[in-house]
Amino acid sequence: MDPSRDPLLLTPGPLTTSAGVRGAMDRDLGSRDAEFVALNAEVRRRLVAVVAAEPEYTCVPVQGSGTFAVEAALGTLVPRSGKVLACVNGAYGARIRQICQRIGRDVAAVECPEDRPVDPEAVDRALAGDPGITHVALAHCETTTGLLNPVPAVAAVAAARGRRLIVDAMSAFGALPLRAEAVPFEAVVASSNKCLEGVPGVGFVVARARALAAAAGNSPSLALDLHDQWRGFEANGQWRFTPPVQVLAALAEALRRHADEGGVEGRGARYRENLRVLQEGMGALGFVPLLSPSVQAPIIVTWRAPGGPWSFEVFYRALRERGFAIYPGKLTRAPTFRVGCIGQVFPDDLRRFVGAVAEVMEAMGLPSGAPGTGEGEA
Ligand SMILES: *Cc1c(COP(=O)(O)O)cnc(C)c1O
Repeated sequence: MDPSRDPLLLTPGPLTTSAGVRGAMDRDLGSRDAEFVALNAEVRRRLVAVVAAEPEYTCVPVQGSGTFAVEAALGTLVPRSGKVLACVNGAYGARIRQICQRIGRDVAAVECPEDRPVDPEAVDRALAGDPGITHVALAHCETTTGLLNPVPAVAAVAAARGRRLIVDAMSAFGALPLRAEAVPFEAVVASSNKCLEGVPGVGFVVARARALAAAAGNSPSLALDLHDQWRGFEANGQWRFTPPVQVLAALAEALRRHADEGGVEGRGARYRENLRVLQEGMGALGFVPLLSPSVQAPIIVTWRAPGGPWSFEVFYRALRERGFAIYPGKLTRAPTFRVGCIGQVFPDDLRRFVGAVAEVMEAMGLPSGAPGTGEGEA
């Protein structure tokens, strides 16, 4: 197999990775070996450093995809008598609510339209009206649309009312600024394979050590109990159950490269430039984004489907033949498609992508990317 023939992944994840990160997996590491224990400690230390300072905060990785870590955080940090306020303006906010229902945690929701940020005043009203709510949870970037939620404002409201904040920063961690010193959070959840540009297979939670210490016995799950997982790391630096050693070796390398690129600032700058090139190029072809620029995060863009002879499948296959993988829309309303600007992807890649879109439009007989008035859309 020749990785140079794989398509560039302009998706929400898994994403295109560097050869260096993939190469770091070419190891067999014993889970109890001193080298692996040290590598694991390095990963945990580097992950905390992205958003907070030790020793107030610590990092607990967990085997699985990002959702495993979200479920682990909610199940461990929210006591059985607790109640979560889920902020819902897309699929990932809705998933927080669904997890709470499934694991038996009381949950209420503030809902907003998919193209609008979570409203901090609505959060404040919900908290004022329900003293039983102990935790507020929201997605930093709602990847459903690519929308940036106002985490600092929601954090301020939660703090003022003495409630704890859990942030699903899956598609933001490592690229969008978030610091515990400025935005008081109980826990931030993310995974290896989005803006950190590692390979999929591990999620993690950066949480207040005090909160983890107080969470013994909360979790309804054995495998997803972050308190127990954390106690294991603190005791001997080892994982409770088989660690994904190659995934962690790749994540360590990915984190070193993240630091070399200038950390959150450097990575965020590249993604913002990717976004600019994408918006400019697609805009020139007539495409219209779903979101207003003020709430568009430099992560993934939702485009309204063009009028005329549109078929996502045809568009997708033609772009795939030209070396690019895009993503379907995830909206309940208007037909859309999504193009990501994260991963080992550079402004020149987005320029080539826009060129490929122009070719495909010609082949499909699409005169413009402008959305139809409604009648021609499928
Ligand atoms: C990708 C993503 C998830 C879920 O991640 P999986 O790895 O698919 O489980 C959760 N929340 C947000 C905001 C995401 O972007």
